[in-house]
Amino acid sequence: MATERTLVLFKPDAVQRRLVGELYSRFERKGLKVVGLKLLKVTPELSKQHYAEHVSKPFYPMLEEFITSGPIVALCLEGPEAVSVVRGMMGPTNGRAAAPGTIRGDFGVSRQMNLVHGSDSTDASAREIAIYFKPEELVSYEPTLSGWVCASDEK
Ligand code: UDP
Ligand code: MG
Repeated sequence: MATERTLVLFKPDAVQRRLVGELYSRFERKGLKVVGLKLLKVTPELSKQHYAEHVSKPFYPMLEEFITSGPIVALCLEGPEAVSVVRGMMGPTNGRAAAPGTIRGDFGVSRQMNLVHGSDSTDASAREIAIYFKPEELVSYEPTLSGWVCASDEK
């Protein structure tokens, strides 16, 4: 079992709809460790860097307009298999297809305004974390509750 770090964004719709506390709470309660956290506005340059794989797609101009339209919250989360755990908590891209119980299934009906971003692989998370956080902005610590979150052979 690998301890992984993953990049999570609460997108502008989540901030504007005042869902930041709700979403943060879900990841906290899951037992994932927050090792990085900031509020920022994504610039067009940052958007192109982050969404490099999508820049040439037809939906990209609207995606850039959306992601730069207001503040976002960026988090770096750490935990066992954090990349796939977070993707599971998010649900699929389109909120209309996302199952109840997932973030996108519980809070959204849109394919674009789907509240949250999560890295889709460990290669992507390494690249994306470096885009949003300087190394010194990531905090290493041992939460006092970690002994109650999973067994020692799972860390
Ligand atoms: N998106 C969009 N239209 C589409 C597909 C995606 O606006 O047809 C947006 C949506 O906000 C999505 C992001 O572009 O979260 C990145 O797309 P991707 O396919 O990587 O989805 P994700 O990994 O976020 O589920
Ligand atoms: Mg993606």
